[in-house]
Amino acid sequence: MQIEIFKIIRSNRKTIALKIDNQSNLIIKAPSSVPLSYIQKIVQQKQNWIIAKKIEVQNRKKFTRNLSDGASITIFGKDYIIQYVDNLQFALHLKNQLLQVANDQSKYIKPLLKHLIIKMAKEFFSVHVAKWASIMGVKYNRISIKNTISRWGSCSSLGNLNFNWKLAFAPVEIIEYIVIHELSHLRYLNHSVDFWNEVRKYCPEYKKHKKWLRDNAQLLEL
Ligand SMILES: [Zn+2]
Repeated sequence: MQIEIFKIIRSNRKTIALKIDNQSNLIIKAPSSVPLSYIQKIVQQKQNWIIAKKIEVQNRKKFTRNLSDGASITIFGKDYIIQYVDNLQFALHLKNQLLQVANDQSKYIKPLLKHLIIKMAKEFFSVHVAKWASIMGVKYNRISIKNTISRWGSCSSLGNLNFNWKLAFAPVEIIEYIVIHELSHLRYLNHSVDFWNEVRKYCPEYKKHKKWLRDNAQLLEL
């Protein structure tokens, strides 16, 4: 089977790296001096991995959140069953394990849910950031909930922390990792070795969580 190489990025790096991008294209990073024939040989050898990755990326795109009656949805680690109700006082309402939606508002469920989650996120992150800041002995300024497309969190030099509301759909240990990551930036405003050592101190499995976020970002869509 012939595998198409979409792009080869040459640089003064020492090793060859293969990557499947979000469009399922094979991108290769290679040292300037390595001949194309050698790269092709590597691609042949890594065939199985490449095909498996491409399938994984293609399946990824298929995720659509089930918001139908009776579907379950996890928000900040709590499971709710979606229930459409007639004559509900609110458009959207959390009641014990139920996420109730007024039937006549059902077509607005996504914006309504987003609004509710942003409210819940303010509460969730203020509690968890305060907890971890005290454990880690750092001081932060303020917390904002953002709608950033590509970032899960950020930390400014003024100590302002931003978190993406879509983290609500991630497992709690992943959200905690992002909190620890951003709080570690209060000590190191970069991604240096010292920074990652700081993250590891409070989140020994951070590499696993990073990978989970890379592989499962599509699951955090509303
Ligand atoms: Zn960072």
